[in-house]
Amino acid sequence: MRGGDVAAAAPHADEQAGIEAGICPLCGGSNQCAMAAQQAASGCWCMQADIAPAALAAIPSAALDRACLCPRCAAMTAPTTPPAA
Ligand SMILES: [Zn+2]
Repeated sequence: MRGGDVAAAAPHADEQAGIEAGICPLCGGSNQCAMAAQQAASGCWCMQADIAPAALAAIPSAALDRACLCPRCAAMTAPTTPPAA
């Protein structure tokens, strides 16, 4: 039998370009993340903040685990503009 047709996987698909660790995915502003600033995560504002569930739900899936919210968006105190679809 012949074969060996290994599927060409693309490990570095760059679909998530534009997601920056230091940028809030909701408002595009600085999220003031301590980890993004190369500081100890224990010193990040998010350790003491309550993150609004609605804010978490609003994070684009591409940004999950990649970028933190900013303090205002996390508390849902900033006016958010719905994404123009
Ligand atoms: Zn924000």
